[in-house]
Formats: sequence, C-alpha cells, structure tokens
Amino acid sequence: MPLLSSDALVLRTYKVGETSKVVVLLTRERGKVRAVAKGARGGRPRYQSALEPLSEVRVGLYGRQGADLLRLGPCELLRSAFRAGERGLETALNLSYFAELLDAFAQEGEAEDDVYRLALAVVRAAEGGTDSVVLARYLEAWLLRLHGVYPPLDHCAGCGAPLGAGPLDYDARAHGFVCSSCRPASGPLLLEGARRFLIEVFRKAPAAIEGTIPEDAQPLEAFHEMLIGRHLERTLRSLRVLKAAQA
Ligand SMILES: [Zn+2]
Repeated sequence: MPLLSSDALVLRTYKVGETSKVVVLLTRERGKVRAVAKGARGGRPRYQSALEPLSEVRVGLYGRQGADLLRLGPCELLRSAFRAGERGLETALNLSYFAELLDAFAQEGEAEDDVYRLALAVVRAAEGGTDSVVLARYLEAWLLRLHGVYPPLDHCAGCGAPLGAGPLDYDARAHGFVCSSCRPASGPLLLEGARRFLIEVFRKAPAAIEGTIPEDAQPLEAFHEMLIGRHLERTLRSLRVLKAAQA
C-alpha cells in the first residue's frame, strides 16, 4: 500500500544519480512533496511525459511518514500542460513561471486545497487560450491573497476607512492602500483600470477573464513583483528569464 495516493501537479524535476529524478509535486492531499522517480532517465525512461512541469497526475507515494523524500510508485498522466505550452514562447515561459511560483509559495507537507484548485484552474485556462499575461497576474494576486499578503482593495490600511472609487494609493509602511487622510503614500499609485482588473480577478474564475491586460493595469506586474519579493525574500529565476525574453 502506498503511504499516500493523491492527485498532483508536477512542479519540477531534477536529476539524481544515473537514472533517476527527484520530482517536486503539489499534491492535493499533502501540499508540496518530493519523491524519487527511479528509472525516470536513461534509454527507456519510466513515466515519460507524466513528469513534465504542470502535468496533472495521479500518484502513489511510498516511504516513511514524515520523511523528507518519498519514492514515486505509479504515476498516471491525467492531463498534460504540453498543448498550452505549444501556444508560443510567451505562454511556455509563463507556464515555467507558474510552476516556479507555485513551488515557491506551496507549503511542504501541508494540504492547501484552495492553492491546489487555483493552480488547476490557471493551468486549464492556459490550455483553453486565456491570455498568459492575464493568468500570470491572476496567479500572483491569488497566491498573495491566499497567503494573507494582498492588501485589501476596499478599506484603508492606515485607518480602516472605506476606500472610495478611483485609483489605489499604496503605502509601504501601512502595508496597503491608504485613503486621502492617510497620505502621502510611498506609492505606487494604481490607476482605476488596475483596480477594475483586480476586482475582476478576485471575482471570476481565470478562464472567465477575456482579452488581454488593460493598459492601466500593466503596473501590476511590478507591484506584484515587489509584494512577492518581500514575501519570499528572493527573486524567481523564471521571472528573470521571462523578462529577458520580453526585452
Ligand atoms: Zn486612512
């Protein structure tokens, strides 16, 4: 009997020994888990495309309760992210970024069903053709919110007063958006279009967001990067690659 049977998303793999890989999985049952996939490399690799990043799989994991590294048993491919990646370089790079972002945020050994459902919805929306830049901002906003980092859009972080319609003024000391009485704020100032986009993000499923990112909402990229950098205390490698490709 496996120690754990679970649906999971593959986040990444790395080589170990001559013929094996370690696979980092986001499991539905137990959050982030590492497992050795024996025979995953070499002339006749086991598992094949099931271990590609963001593949949705059903796995059996063996090992001791509480062990840092488990052993991958059966691994059935339920859905591959490959088709989404074929939409073009930007989508492919964004998918790598999504996997790294999920890896950075996910807690080891701790089930977070809402994070798991978010990840699945974003990967499926990418496959369905939702714009990958929209999905990047969506995934960032929700991961930050689910980890208690995204500032509320509806009240002032300084005094608690409701925030009226209009732009959102961020203040780093207050860790949130502030009202006119609590200004001056450190910035950035997010325009009305960014606010409308965020409201849509927090209300809708990712596949329901149509079109590309509005011009006014583009500063959200730098804003999210700042929030993520502060939360994780590092910059993600795939984000740097993505930016280099856009330059
Ligand atoms: Zn205030």
